[in-house]
Order: sequence, then structure tokens, then C-alpha cells
Amino acid sequence: MSVKLYFVLLLGGVFVTSCSQVKNENMESSSTNPFAKGSQVNNANFTGTVWLNYLVETDTAHNVNIGSVTFEPAARTNWHYHKGGQILLVTAGKGLYQEKGKPIEIIHKGQVVKCPADIEHWHGATATDTMTHIAIGTNTDIGGAVWLRPVTDEEYHTR
Ligand code: MN
Repeated sequence: MSVKLYFVLLLGGVFVTSCSQVKNENMESSSTNPFAKGSQVNNANFTGTVWLNYLVETDTAHNVNIGSVTFEPAARTNWHYHKGGQILLVTAGKGLYQEKGKPIEIIHKGQVVKCPADIEHWHGATATDTMTHIAIGTNTDIGGAVWLRPVTDEEYHTR
């Protein structure tokens, strides 16, 4: 083996090692998702494994924020509402959406969901599918998300 090839392999090994140490982050797009999964969400507003790639931060010119959110099977948001409303563009998989007092709806790739302002709801994956949606927070000058309690397993499985 040439010395040059040896160093290429050595550097390759170092690179693979350092990448494998980066857990909970995925910046690759895929054939199904145009936007990368982003970073794993770690807060009490969600149940299960959720990934967020924050695409557009709100500003006073546009008054929106946009993120690609990926829910692994059975993952979901807490109950919440948006003071300025929200639009969901489902980009992959199959998931669930429920407004308070209404039945759970199945949502799937290609579907657009409008969440009216101040209406309590939750969204997430089905128990067996991963679901990705682009979440657009609208009218952010009015206000953002107001987070409430988790969706219980009983609520999640009631259909
Ligand atoms: Mn929402």
C-alpha cells in the first residue's frame, strides 16, 4: 500500500469516527424528504422521538416561521394552540391530527392542514408510521404556540 493511500484511509477513518460521535443530528436530505431531519427535539412539549429542522426564523418582514418536523411512530405534540394560526404541509409518511372535541384525522404525504388560530389541537405520527410535515407558523406578530398538557395514550389510541 502506498503511503499516500495509507493517509487517505487514515483520514477517512478519523472522519467516520468523528461523524459517529455526532448523535441526535441529521442534516441529510433523502429521496422522501427534501429537507434534512435536523436535530432531535428534547423538551416537554412532545411525546416520543421528534426531529426539527428550523428552516425560517420569524422576522418582522414576513411574520412566519417555518420548520420541518419529523415524528417517529407514536410521537406527537402536546395539546397546544397557535395565537396566529398554523399551516402544516405533510411531506412524508402518515400521521394524525386532532382538534379538541373532534375525531382524530389521518393525514398523509401531500396533504395540507390549516390549524385555525386559538383552536386546541395536536399532531404527530401514527403508531406505525413516521410522519414529516413542514409547520408554518402564521401571523407570528399576533403570537406563537401556547403549549398545554401531553396527549395521553388513551386519547392517542381513541379512534
Ligand atoms: Mn400545531
